Amino acid sequence: MRWWPGSLLHLFCCLRLRVCARRGRSRLPLWLRETWAYMRLMFKSLYFNSLTNSDVVFDSVFEPVFWTVEHVTRWFGTVFVCLVVVLTSSIVLIAYVVLLPLVLNTYSLAWIAWHLCYGHWNLVMIAFHYYKATKTSPGFPPTVKNDVPFVSVCKKCIIPKPARTHHCGICNSCILKMDHHCPWLNNCVGHFNHRYFFSFCLFMTMGCVYCSISGRNLFLDAYNTLERFKHTGMEKPGIPVTGMGPLIGILPSGQTHYQTPSPAYTYKDKMIHKSIIYMWVLTSTVGVALGCLTVWHAVLISRGETSIERHINIKETKRMAKRGKVYKNPFHYGRLNNWKIFLGVEKRSHWVTRVLLPSGHAPLGDGLTWDVYPVRKDMMPV
Ligand SMILES: [Zn+2]
Ligand SMILES: [Zn+2]
Repeated sequence: MRWWPGSLLHLFCCLRLRVCARRGRSRLPLWLRETWAYMRLMFKSLYFNSLTNSDVVFDSVFEPVFWTVEHVTRWFGTVFVCLVVVLTSSIVLIAYVVLLPLVLNTYSLAWIAWHLCYGHWNLVMIAFHYYKATKTSPGFPPTVKNDVPFVSVCKKCIIPKPARTHHCGICNSCILKMDHHCPWLNNCVGHFNHRYFFSFCLFMTMGCVYCSISGRNLFLDAYNTLERFKHTGMEKPGIPVTGMGPLIGILPSGQTHYQTPSPAYTYKDKMIHKSIIYMWVLTSTVGVALGCLTVWHAVLISRGETSIERHINIKETKRMAKRGKVYKNPFHYGRLNNWKIFLGVEKRSHWVTRVLLPSGHAPLGDGLTWDVYPVRKDMMPV
């Protein structure tokens, strides 16, 4: 808030002059009119600000809501992380206990090799990037005065903010190149862990899509079998079922294969079917939701902007358009270059060693200073 005593005095004088001008027209006593004018002035002074605009009013009105959301998110961060770990572990457990024996018993050697290699690679990538995204500090600006160029001052931390730095109310700190605060990581996504966050989203989506596609036929069979026994009342363990193997495997060729014809639809069979249904529903739902989020972040990375900068850039584009000018994002270095900088790809082999394999390399730059487009040629990775 910026107060202007001179402006306040001027406002009071104007009000007093208006009261004096109306003296003849109003029947109220002068002291009452002056008191009324004074009260109005006091009330207006509560929200008078030379910089007030719709954003300040919006922020002030919704301050209690923001405060509540920030505190709830802070406290529930650990719960969300536990939820991610428990849900992911449950899918991995089902894959090992239910699906792996089925794959080993029914699939050809080539399909077994594919499922073992892809499944484990995907699992390692998810676990590595999730661990790194939660444990890596997003990056904080220095709190002591130094030579780092800054673009504004944080009104909460009272420290200079370098370009692309924003304040996180949940972490209660300024974050370098802040993208957003992620409750599923219980951490802010900033300069130093942005790549881990995106890679986690990407590999988790790929893992969910993999489970969803490869488990589709199993899900349909499990669902149909469960429904059939539910309606015929034969779901109790030990009741014989003739001519029907409850655990149906689908061969890669698409041909239905009755794996272990069983005389009874046992409690174990029922649990296996329920776990397959649970796995398919969860992975399909998460795959769609997280897939949309991943695509959105991929679009932002291609444009060289963070989630916060997206809003700022839209506003700036409109503001400049009103003046007949075109706004250009200064951190957009070209689509491919944005990806190379984001992923830390400095030579061709890095596409494999730094993107397709777990890599703990630091991002390009310190997050404090940024090259503005057009960027220096020697900064561009090959
Ligand atoms: Zn701050
Ligand atoms: Zn945060």
